[in-house]
Amino acid sequence: MIETLRKIVQAVNEADTLDDALNFIVHEVRAAMQTDVCTIYLRDQGNRRLVFRATEGLNKDKVGQFSLAASEGLVGWVVARGELLNLDDAMNHPSFQLVPGLGEETFNSFMGAPIIHQRDPLGVLVVQQSAARRFSDDEEAFLITVSAQLAGVIAHAELTGAVSSGEIARDDATGIVGVPGSPGIGIGTAVFVSPTADLSAVPSRSADNRKQELRAFRAALARVRDDIEVVAENLRDELSPEDHALFNVYLTILDDSTMGSEVAGLIKAGEWAQGALSQVMIKHIRHFERMEHSYLRERAVDVRDLGTRVLTYLQDEERSIRDWPENTILVAEEVTASALGEVPRERLVGIVSLRGSSNSHTAILARGMGVPAVLGASDLPYSRLDDKTVVVDGYNGRVYINPHAQALRRFEKLVNEDEALSEELAILRDDLCQTSDGRRVPLWVNTGIAADLQRALDNGAEGVGLYRTEVAFLLRDRFPSEEEQRQLYRDQLEAFASAPVTMRTLDIGGDKSLPYFPIKEDNPFLGWRGVRVTLDHPEIFLAQVRAMLKANEGLGNLRILLPMISSVEELEESLVLIKRCHEEVSAEGYTQPFPPIGVMIEVPSAVYLAASLAERVDFLSVGSNDLTQYLLAVDRNNARVADLYQALHPAVLSALQAIVVAAHGAGKTVSLCGEIAGDPRSVPLLIAMGFDQLSMNATNVPRVKKVVQTITEEDAHTALRKIQGMHSAGQVMAVLDELIEGYQLERFIRSNKRGRQ
Ligand code: PEP
Ligand code: MG
Repeated sequence: MIETLRKIVQAVNEADTLDDALNFIVHEVRAAMQTDVCTIYLRDQGNRRLVFRATEGLNKDKVGQFSLAASEGLVGWVVARGELLNLDDAMNHPSFQLVPGLGEETFNSFMGAPIIHQRDPLGVLVVQQSAARRFSDDEEAFLITVSAQLAGVIAHAELTGAVSSGEIARDDATGIVGVPGSPGIGIGTAVFVSPTADLSAVPSRSADNRKQELRAFRAALARVRDDIEVVAENLRDELSPEDHALFNVYLTILDDSTMGSEVAGLIKAGEWAQGALSQVMIKHIRHFERMEHSYLRERAVDVRDLGTRVLTYLQDEERSIRDWPENTILVAEEVTASALGEVPRERLVGIVSLRGSSNSHTAILARGMGVPAVLGASDLPYSRLDDKTVVVDGYNGRVYINPHAQALRRFEKLVNEDEALSEELAILRDDLCQTSDGRRVPLWVNTGIAADLQRALDNGAEGVGLYRTEVAFLLRDRFPSEEEQRQLYRDQLEAFASAPVTMRTLDIGGDKSLPYFPIKEDNPFLGWRGVRVTLDHPEIFLAQVRAMLKANEGLGNLRILLPMISSVEELEESLVLIKRCHEEVSAEGYTQPFPPIGVMIEVPSAVYLAASLAERVDFLSVGSNDLTQYLLAVDRNNARVADLYQALHPAVLSALQAIVVAAHGAGKTVSLCGEIAGDPRSVPLLIAMGFDQLSMNATNVPRVKKVVQTITEEDAHTALRKIQGMHSAGQVMAVLDELIEGYQLERFIRSNKRGRQ
């Protein structure tokens, strides 16, 4: 069964049109369950009727021609109740309705399973049989499994088909749903980037220069042939002659007279090399997969492997010559830090990632760069988006493909309003940040990429509350040397001198894996992460701290921050290493003070240990992004649970308050450097709690400053008192919205009123 499912899911994912996908499903399910009929009804997104979309066994002439009202017939019953219906005598069921012309008259047994995607009923998968019998428990389980697995792929195929045919099936006012990653509206041309060679994810594109594409294909082919010959030679003594002969088979698959010539033919007809390769290879893979003989079926894997190798070379070639459109919307399954780095900043106007969620590190980078982003848009027909006009609504987490003129004008107006607002706020740059009744609130900035520096200075940040050193490590192909690091850190310290710059030691693991130091774990956020890695690799930690201390020579504005501390022992071990570095660097002749050391409070155990940790260091800094995920047991990187990731959850708020009390009790300062610090809606609460500094991405500094300057500390305290005892994030948000609206600051919160944070 798993094999059948795997085959269906793969074929559906690779289908060009929704009809192809549905026809394949009904064909395969009927065969697997040995029933007389298999049918799919899908709900029309506009009028909500259930449309007869594909069948094996009933009258195909009626496909697309006939539909049922939302709760009509047995199919409507299944959708309305959202549960499976299994009948041996369908015609006697009160909801049964005979539709003339479908050919259902002779089928007594009926079983229908709802197809539900993200709580939304998409349609019904039905099997029917003429013999009057109840389908068995096993058959019920099979149908439920198929429909549950297929819901996501059908939703995806629905959009892919709609995009290919030029019409968008989804309600244009809704767009394709993702999670807000970085605020703002981006309008531009989509460019899909596949990070790893994936034959199924190659868009169809017309070749700019056929001869050049043909040359590129032949060159890639030659390189794969060379690779195979080298491998074959290396294994000559280890394989039997029969096994060794397989390599010749591989070489002939790509031969000019077989698939190679088909690919060349498509290129000559105008398709670009990657598209031609993927189309030909997928056709042959499917062909092999359907073969009866298991030996031949397994050859599908070889064909896929060969195709992938050729594609890798073609993509390498393309990356070096890619022409980015003026307004690029970068689309990828997973937008990595290095993919972001490839697009010239002045051309990048939006980001769409299929994976990730609001607090993934991709989102944080995008926010730092001020580029609107939507993440977790898993239904997006990404491989068909190339060259399409796309609007990224980073406020509400929506993506619109080829929106019509009226919608486009609406978005353009929003872009203009945002620009006007930025200009209006620019004059606040040199103002002191304090509430209207005089409470000082220093606004610091989070940095990572080089571009952050200038934006932070332009926006009037008073210091750096979090420099994510790992970003520079992510953009390289090896660990940076101590001297390379010293220079990087010096740039940060000099740019802000004499304002404080808080440098966090390497925080890798979780969703940040270095390409040259991969960490593969089942549960990476609970695994080898942050200080756990660097304490196990003191050579990496020592080089980094030494580089920081050397960079601080003659400046004295460095602060060092330790990530993911979950015990006092980890802190003490780190302090021993830092002291050792300081002695060594001083002995080398550098004159720099011993810097203030801080601990990030981002793990629940650290909340309870906050007082003991604070006693041993100079300051605390709360990482609310991780603290939220660990307190609520909600993966910050998973769009499926984005609604549950609530930084304003009462449990998180009471932890924040407890940390401030612990830090101040020990006579130490405490800052907040998670994303909530830059959320204008949450800022009044944080002020009332007593945080000494708020550190946020550069983009949000002016907005937060405006909110701070407008409100009074007294009102902030009233809001904090009001939320005591509340039990949901929604209630807390309602209090904060009321406060913001009272001050007419709504335009600083463009997302849906009760939207996610
Ligand atoms: C945090 O966890 O809140 C934080 C600031 O660190 P990062 O987002 O880099 O994990
Ligand atoms: Mg963190």
